Amino acid sequence: MTNKLDFIQEELDTLKAEKRYINIRTMESPADGWMVVDGKRVLNFCTNNYLGLANHPVLKEAAKKAIDKWGVGPAAVRTIAGTQALHLELERRIAAFKGVEAAMFVQSGFCANQAAIPALVGQEDCIFSDRLNHASIIDGCRLSRAKILVYEHCDPADAERVIKENIGHYRRGLLVTDGVFSMDGDIAPLDKLYEVAEKYGVLTMVDDAHGEGVLGGGRGIVHHFGLQGRFDVEMGTLSKAFGVVGGSLAGKQIIIDYLRQKARPFLFSSAVTPADTAACLAAVDLLEKSTELVDKLWANAEYFKRGMKELGFDTGHTETPIVPVMLGEVGLAKEFSARLFDEGVFAMALGFPTVPRGQARIRVMNTAAHSKEDLDRGLEAFEKVGKALGVI
Ligand SMILES: *Cc1c(COP(=O)(O)O)cnc(C)c1O
Repeated sequence: MTNKLDFIQEELDTLKAEKRYINIRTMESPADGWMVVDGKRVLNFCTNNYLGLANHPVLKEAAKKAIDKWGVGPAAVRTIAGTQALHLELERRIAAFKGVEAAMFVQSGFCANQAAIPALVGQEDCIFSDRLNHASIIDGCRLSRAKILVYEHCDPADAERVIKENIGHYRRGLLVTDGVFSMDGDIAPLDKLYEVAEKYGVLTMVDDAHGEGVLGGGRGIVHHFGLQGRFDVEMGTLSKAFGVVGGSLAGKQIIIDYLRQKARPFLFSSAVTPADTAACLAAVDLLEKSTELVDKLWANAEYFKRGMKELGFDTGHTETPIVPVMLGEVGLAKEFSARLFDEGVFAMALGFPTVPRGQARIRVMNTAAHSKEDLDRGLEAFEKVGKALGVI
């Protein structure tokens, strides 16, 4: 008789044979420009800590104070007894920061997509989704049971074609796109997508996980395009540039009121802790006061990208601080990443299914937590490994 767990062993073996098995490293220090990873101090290019807020003294102090005042957990979902005044304060501040009427705070960006999409569309509806949308958008779409219709990446003309051909067959439609695509660092043509969606009366949603704290002086991709208040749902995360954890949904009051009634992670999973919520509030404070960190992030990103191009690396189509270093085969990308680590540089190799097959890469996340010297150190390591492996 076969063992009922055999399928698991087979799948694990396949992952290893295809070099897709993920070896999970252990962080032994806070997320910052340099970190201790598996016992070694390395220059960190892996975290989404764009503004260096994950270990920021002001956020840490806010979190500590909140614990003294509010305890460590709300011990309830938001709709029963989990809505603390802190949550409402953060929601007001996020709405103001984004220039919209209202916002709602959930446990993570992943949750935000699960919260919004199935509340907006169902079995009789359809979703127009960019080919490269993030996994959490895709899962939110699947959960909704709406028909998922994919349009070509960042292609408003193709989006229009798909909408035109299909919208008549469904009750309603939702167009959803990443704002900044996290594997390539390119930016969705939000203005054109908005125009197309409006023309056909389609609901619009943008996932701004990699735009907040980065684009539009830190206020996100909708500001970058001057479209404040236009998108029906602006989804965001407090887990990346904001340095903490949590997700947000922002838009018109009526939509947020509706989501508070319908969004399942809001109704059935406990609220975010006071410490996290207070730290998020402190992050919004910092971003509202000054664009200093955002400016530093961009100066660093431009410096690093220029350096990589001069060295002869292919950095794809990035328009943001995300720098994909295109290598092709996953084996090469993993070898490159391992050698960088030996050189004291922590940069992740990404392969299928995170990126399409044959488009494996190293992804460098630039942040405001790095100095010029750090970036020079990183460029030197890339040059050394790139030459050793015959990439440049
Ligand atoms: C990271 C990410 C999310 C998930 O956000 P979390 O707060 O980490 O759950 C959602 N969408 C995109 C595009 C992301 O990059």
